[in-house]
Amino acid sequence: MGLFNSIFADLYCPIKDELSKDTEIQIKWQDPKVRGMNSYSVGDVLEEIEDEYNNTWIRTDFICNACSKFTKGLKGMKYIRTEDQSRHIVFLRIEDSKVCELISEKEFSARGVKDFVDYL
Ligand SMILES: [Zn+2]
Repeated sequence: MGLFNSIFADLYCPIKDELSKDTEIQIKWQDPKVRGMNSYSVGDVLEEIEDEYNNTWIRTDFICNACSKFTKGLKGMKYIRTEDQSRHIVFLRIEDSKVCELISEKEFSARGVKDFVDYL
């Protein structure tokens, strides 16, 4: 539990080979006093980031909008049930508190980088 912030981006879906548009990555990498309801994009600065997550690559995952099954809810709102969530791995590079890069697992392994913080 606890509050989180979010990074929104178009993320690659390896199953459908297309982009999951405007997809949320939930993060708890900042001081709790700035957590909750903040949204960021690639290129933004994560203020009050904790040292552990700064100046490093981070491995995390996201719920894919492209290949997860949507269920129609009340008033025609579509949502993804917990059991229908399809998740993919993504790697982010943080330098000087800034979200510098956001790449797929395949791209990351092609770079040959060995060091990253695991946030799965
Ligand atoms: Zn997918």
